[in-house]
Amino acid sequence: MKSLFLVLATSLFAFVTPAFAAPKQGDVIIRHVTVVDVEAAKTVAAQAVVLKGADIVAVGADAAIAKDWRAGRTVEGKGRYLIPGLWDMHVHFGGGPELIEENKALLPLYVANGITTIRDASGDLPEQVLAWRGEIAAGKLFGPRLLSSGAKIEGIAPVWKGTIEVGTESDVDAALDRLKNRDKVDFVKITDSTLKPELFLYALRQAKALGIRTSGHIPMALTTEQAVDAGISSIEHLDYAYNAGAKDEAAIAADFAAKRIDRAEANRRLDAGFDRDTAMAAYRRFAAKGVFVTPTLNGSRIIAYLDRDDHSKDRGVAYIGPKLRKTYDWRIERAAKADAAAIAARHKQIEDVATILPMLAEAGVPIIAGTDAGFLNSFNYPGFGLHDEIGLFVEKGLTPAQALASATRAGPAWFGWLDRYGAVRPGMVADLVLLSKNPLDDIAATRAIDTVVMRGRVLDRAALDKMLADARAKVVAWNAEAAKP
Ligand SMILES: [Zn+2]
Repeated sequence: MKSLFLVLATSLFAFVTPAFAAPKQGDVIIRHVTVVDVEAAKTVAAQAVVLKGADIVAVGADAAIAKDWRAGRTVEGKGRYLIPGLWDMHVHFGGGPELIEENKALLPLYVANGITTIRDASGDLPEQVLAWRGEIAAGKLFGPRLLSSGAKIEGIAPVWKGTIEVGTESDVDAALDRLKNRDKVDFVKITDSTLKPELFLYALRQAKALGIRTSGHIPMALTTEQAVDAGISSIEHLDYAYNAGAKDEAAIAADFAAKRIDRAEANRRLDAGFDRDTAMAAYRRFAAKGVFVTPTLNGSRIIAYLDRDDHSKDRGVAYIGPKLRKTYDWRIERAAKADAAAIAARHKQIEDVATILPMLAEAGVPIIAGTDAGFLNSFNYPGFGLHDEIGLFVEKGLTPAQALASATRAGPAWFGWLDRYGAVRPGMVADLVLLSKNPLDDIAATRAIDTVVMRGRVLDRAALDKMLADARAKVVAWNAEAAKP
């Protein structure tokens, strides 16, 4: 009875639907492609994806979509895998006003590596970066979508340049007012060089009250739990999350606050006090409070092994201008001065810290891929570095699907934008990367980029290669200029 009804209903539907309905018009159609559903960690073969303007307007079985849609440009996706555009959620621009051009030249490197959105976690050129954000959004400057914290909030006379220095609660209020209403920042970055611990917590609470997301480094005089309870939205760098696993974190924080111990001793005790059950309980609280973690693991690994690794043959060096290259020196020199015990401690620390990555995932903490690439951070190459970061995530215990989600979905999830980003579905922004291998089999496939689509604009392999060649040529010219007597 039911099936008869279905047959009748279906034939009735066929009868009233004109067979000669005019095809719908898109701008680009990607055909015969395997779509990677990152959220479900599965692939869907033989799909077609239609783009119109900056949006995805149709996704479905290739034959059906090809019948219903026409497009000005066809991209052949046979044997290829389509993922959402990548997000690098922790980058920097800076080094001083004379480095503006070299920093600007980094923007295409992200796109050439499939990165369609970057989150600037503050440097010493905040006004410049905010200007680029506007120019990119207006289509006047080529680069990935740029989200920025603007100037970071710090204490009085910090080691960092280009910050907003705050010494009182009213300073914090003024800083947040400026960032929210004048600079219209995408989030607030708060760091701990000289910031008073109580003002760090005050800034977190006030930002939350104003509806602004916060990210930062947690002062040693506070526990991770205090920052989590005050409403921090993302913890940058895995070592701060690692500290939450120390059984006696509160006592260590109190001793450091009272100046009974120095930073090195605090770190030694935090490492010695690490306990799996304490850590898992802390990470479940992170998850319950909606706190994300951006490990920047590869950046920490590079710094930890500066004594051992030779970077002179790195492919990325060719993309770094001479003035930016010079900013690498302070970390290199500092590493060279370290004694054997300090080097061994640094190697142990990075390996210990990395063990919490699968624990965070198990506790349900969203892990965000971010590189910390930019000035100062030696041999951490803009664009290329994100593939290193997610490769390291898999090496340290995440699945390829989890690693891929950290670079495609965690960023939009953090901003509350999963309705527009992080999936290959109608209604999403047309930010896509076409890969020649399956990233769910091997995360290294994210490097095998055939085509990048950014806000609907198609950049095929030839266009990406030209962007990279242009970037290298700029560096060659700058190097020649710098070598002149
Ligand atoms: Zn950073």
